[in-house]
Amino acid sequence: MSEPFWRRKSLAEMTGPEWESLCDGCGRCCLNKLEEEDTGKIYFTDVACRLLDAETCRCGDYANRNAKVPDRVRLTPQNVARLPWLPPTCGYRLVAEGRDLYWWHPLVSGDPESVHAAGVSVRGRVGASEDYMPHETLEDRIVSWPLRVPKRARARKARGGGAAGGGAADRDESTRSAADAARARCRG
Ligand code: SF4
Repeated sequence: MSEPFWRRKSLAEMTGPEWESLCDGCGRCCLNKLEEEDTGKIYFTDVACRLLDAETCRCGDYANRNAKVPDRVRLTPQNVARLPWLPPTCGYRLVAEGRDLYWWHPLVSGDPESVHAAGVSVRGRVGASEDYMPHETLEDRIVSWPLRVPKRARARKARGGGAAGGGAADRDESTRSAADAARARCRG
């Protein structure tokens, strides 16, 4: 049996549908982020993009996302490796780093719910929509979990395909002063 496309192809070689399917639907990149002015360090918050559906963890208006959120960052095969805020679980980041997808990725599990079952998605963890959070309050909403790989998500399954393994990006939570919101949206 031939290897699945994400093991055979680079991001630049993928077809449009393959590229789209690489998104695991976690919604982590749809959280507002802060960038520390002096160091460039990124802090996630639990405040979500106004378009994020916090239950499905998908964009609530994907077709019109560019018009409705004009400052969103578009993921491309060229910029994925340069974006420091992509979560360690992100399918695009994993493939760009030459790693495999985890067992819970829908492409591996065949089940879009597995990203939620593994505790990777933002379901149940979004504190507020950015529509209700003034920018100056974002520092109070900093969280560290979007930069971590949950324990149960790291566990390798006996069967069921890929497991990225290792590389957990646990980092300390910090509330140091931050400037500038860095905004990011999914893939296209
Ligand atoms: S682009 Fe990456 S971080 Fe964003 S929802 Fe898709 S897999 Fe998750």
